[in-house]
Amino acid sequence: MVIIKTEEEIEKMQVAGQILKELDLVLKEEIKPGVTTGHLDQIAERFIRGKGALPSFKGYGGFPGSICTSVNEEVIHGIPGSKLLRAGDIISIDMGAYIGGYHGDCARTYGVGEISPEDQTLIDVTKQSFFEGLRFAKAGCHLFEISAAIGDYVEQHGFSVVRDYVGHGIGRALHEDPAVPNYRQIGRGMRLVKGMVLAVEPMVNQGTFRIRVLDDKWTVVTADGKKAAHYENTLAITDGEPLLLTL
Ligand code: MG
Repeated sequence: MVIIKTEEEIEKMQVAGQILKELDLVLKEEIKPGVTTGHLDQIAERFIRGKGALPSFKGYGGFPGSICTSVNEEVIHGIPGSKLLRAGDIISIDMGAYIGGYHGDCARTYGVGEISPEDQTLIDVTKQSFFEGLRFAKAGCHLFEISAAIGDYVEQHGFSVVRDYVGHGIGRALHEDPAVPNYRQIGRGMRLVKGMVLAVEPMVNQGTFRIRVLDDKWTVVTADGKKAAHYENTLAITDGEPLLLTL
């Protein structure tokens, strides 16, 4: 069931979004060769708690980190720890904050030091695919128009979209209905109405769309070991342009 949010609720969700916007700026500065993913997690947890919020992911289904740190072939749900970042790596950081009864959720992928042009293209296409989908995040459009716009753009650039994981509604719960796939679906999906809040999050692979989960039960990696990128924002459907809560 899709939970429609009032304007007051969306205002509350902007508080969580604002914390994540600021956290993104902090983490971006910390990403450099020689830093561990655990270090980034510590900074994120301290920052989120310092704002009076809770890290949405910590303890979610038993997840041990406050953020997800997914490096290179890791697509999503990478567990922060002793892994050292090296020049040429790419890292996806997924972050969530919970405050005032509501969650915010967003993800970014960054290069570590100098990265290859191919990897930069992967990051750029993944980000742009979100904005292609965003054009259809409007009352009166249909959910799968977002999915198709994202997936078509990614495939036009020779990359593939992860199918086993999708975006989601968000609000009092981190994951609400509807599921938001990032590739073309059969049919149009539900009609979008004002007050829906969605986390739209393309996960894009350089090679096959196929993934597998590591023995740690969390880390999702590409099946072929090629790199992956992730980009996500929480957005609210309005009567006009979508309201980006985490950007
Ligand atoms: Mg999400």
